[in-house]
Amino acid sequence: MDDLVFADEVAIAPVTTRPPWRILVVDDDADVHSTTLFALADVDMQGRPLAFLHAYSAAEAFAVLGRERDIAVILLDVVMERADAGLQLVRRIRNELDLHDVRIILRTGQPGYAPEMEAIRGYDINDYRTKSELTRTKLYTTVAAAIRSYEQLCALEANRVGMERIVAACAQLMALHGVRDVAYGILAQAGKLIGQPADGVLCTREFGDGTGAFGPLGVVAACGASRDLEGCELGALYDDPHVTRLAQAAERTLARRACTADDGILTLFFPGKAGRDFVACMPLERTISDVETRLLKVFCGMVAVSLDNCELVTDLHQSAFHDPLTGLPNRTRMVELIDAALAAGAGPDHNPDQDAVLALVDIDHFAETNDALGHRFGDLLLAAVARRLCTRLVPGLAPGLAPSLHIGRIGGDIFCVLGIAELVQPAALQTLFLDAFHIDGQDVQVSSTLGLVRLAEHDGSGADALKDGDIALKRAKLQQRAGHCYFSRGMGVEIRERVRMMHALRSGFRRGELFLDYQPQIDLATNRAFGAEALLRWRQQDGQLVPPDRFIPIAEYSGLIVEIGEWVLRQACTELLRLRAAGYTAFTMSVNVSQVQLRHPHFLDMLRRALDDTGAPPEFIELEITESMAMEEPAALVEKLAHVKRTGVSIAIDDFGTGFSSLSHLQRLQVDRLKIDRTFVTEITGSARGSSIAQMVVQLGRNLGLSVIAEGVEDERQAQILRQLGCPLAQGYLYSRPLSPEALLVWLAGETVTQAA
Ligand code: C2E
Ligand code: MG
Ligand code: MG
Repeated sequence: MDDLVFADEVAIAPVTTRPPWRILVVDDDADVHSTTLFALADVDMQGRPLAFLHAYSAAEAFAVLGRERDIAVILLDVVMERADAGLQLVRRIRNELDLHDVRIILRTGQPGYAPEMEAIRGYDINDYRTKSELTRTKLYTTVAAAIRSYEQLCALEANRVGMERIVAACAQLMALHGVRDVAYGILAQAGKLIGQPADGVLCTREFGDGTGAFGPLGVVAACGASRDLEGCELGALYDDPHVTRLAQAAERTLARRACTADDGILTLFFPGKAGRDFVACMPLERTISDVETRLLKVFCGMVAVSLDNCELVTDLHQSAFHDPLTGLPNRTRMVELIDAALAAGAGPDHNPDQDAVLALVDIDHFAETNDALGHRFGDLLLAAVARRLCTRLVPGLAPGLAPSLHIGRIGGDIFCVLGIAELVQPAALQTLFLDAFHIDGQDVQVSSTLGLVRLAEHDGSGADALKDGDIALKRAKLQQRAGHCYFSRGMGVEIRERVRMMHALRSGFRRGELFLDYQPQIDLATNRAFGAEALLRWRQQDGQLVPPDRFIPIAEYSGLIVEIGEWVLRQACTELLRLRAAGYTAFTMSVNVSQVQLRHPHFLDMLRRALDDTGAPPEFIELEITESMAMEEPAALVEKLAHVKRTGVSIAIDDFGTGFSSLSHLQRLQVDRLKIDRTFVTEITGSARGSSIAQMVVQLGRNLGLSVIAEGVEDERQAQILRQLGCPLAQGYLYSRPLSPEALLVWLAGETVTQAA
């Protein structure tokens, strides 16, 4: 507060324009009026001239005092209409007119009419003189003393009123939040202090481009005749003379770091944090007094503190509710905004004209981009996406200005758009990504996947709406990249069921509720089992079996499959060893491996350790991967499978025929066997066309030198056709359902018996 000074207090009120002291001469003798004028004309007191008013009776004086303001001194004759007319008037001035500041000098021709001391004290009379006593010099000093004491009384009063105003002004400012509101408050309260309507601008130098240099002078708040300037850059509008005056005054003030009152403009200087000073510029309707100057000084000091606090609060607010990278509202803030939209009637009892939609916009393959090109690049990309969402969704309107459109960043690469359905359309959002983003001199093309929630159908909180958006987004990602999906209530139920099952599976796995069954695989030439496929089973505590088609996707989705898959592999290896110990030394064991497992960075280690620890011979182990998996990310998979093959295990492609394998690809993958999907085996008996795919796979296997097995063989006819097509191997209910290890041993023994028989 100490560095807050008016640069040049004298300049605030040039001498010539200061108002005169007003003196009222009350006397029934006209001569007294003229001698008083003669004695005091052309004198200066406290730098101000004197001006005279005249009354010739107590009654007339009373009327003048009732009418005129700011009379400093009354030179009052004691004896006029009546002997005590003067004293009576003093009583009425103090009691009836309630004028307490005006100084009174009593004059009398006759010493005998002197009032009593009591009256002099009681009515606050400054002086009592006989007329003969008041020589010119004496009159001057008496009036000068009275004026000094009047000035002091006025200053005290002004200070009291001023302080009351400042306290009130600051109390009101404290109640405001946000720099903008406080800025308005400052202009309004400063206006009140000097008795003017709020008019002017409050500006600050914007931070520049991050190089440390300050940017242009920006108007934070504007009101009165200057109200159109809000949000403008003052320097950019120099062709307007009014703006030029304001801008020059602001620049001067910032340079001098002090308040000024030149050129009809009052400026107030508020030193801010980190050199970010504020300045208020207000056109002045009149000159301001010393008292007002002092008041404004106190006001500036108090405001500087409250601006500081307010900026602090704003900063805190900013960091609590905004994403630092893009400056957009963060998840917390978006939840508030969605809550507000719901409260404003976007929910089920909504106004159909204002259907609000929430869209989560996920950048496809952002993680890969981030890994490949670095985090700095990733950050720049996110900032570019944020800018594009803000500028292009509603061209020409910043998001804060577009009615009911809010854009936020709620997670790593997930943006959130909230607005009326008309604005928040999947096609419009995805169009924004058609043009490449220019980043670091490179053109980057990204697409986005959308999860949308119609708030009119949403029945819950803002946070719930975001969760629903997440569910819809996950669904959209499952379907296809660069697609979109609207949330539906069914998804919510499904997802809750999945979450429930995920927890149950995790604890079920720990409790040992999982086990393996083994389904024999048959050589069609000899009709004898050469191996088995290990199939995972889950029997819950209540004895119910959950089908693998239901729980395996959940295990994959939750990542639990990595742990479970390792256990399956070890279990299958152990079983293989048991079978070998039982004499089935050429027996093979097929183990299903899901994509999540194979992709896991430790998959190879896991495989090697499982083989080592169990001692299972790798050449009798086969891993089944699905065809869809075999076709994704070919380059990475080719390399991975090459390593897998080096451990000695072989590889089969499961569910073959359902995907879109390219031949060259299959060769590079170095697989050993194709498993014809059950659906084609089922079709086989239907028509000639039904067998065509099975036939093609068999031929393909032959051409590529791969083994082929048909799965899901249920009856003898299917087996026969397969044999005719040249398919060497089969698996299915015709031979055996999946069996427990004990049952498998019994079945194998029986098979031997049957075969032998
Ligand atoms: P899959 O690997 O294609 O397994 C063959 C499925 O066909 C098994 O179903 C088996 O019981 C069934 N099946 C066998 N013969 C016949 C038949 O003649 N008719 C019919 N209708 N079905 C037959 P299951 O055991 O329900 O397994 C379903 C899927 O779950 C498997 O399909 C596999 O993708 C997955 N799975 C099973 N165990 C594991 C595992 O340990 N790890 C992984 N990642 N996936 C597994
Ligand atoms: Mg399989
Ligand atoms: Mg299969």
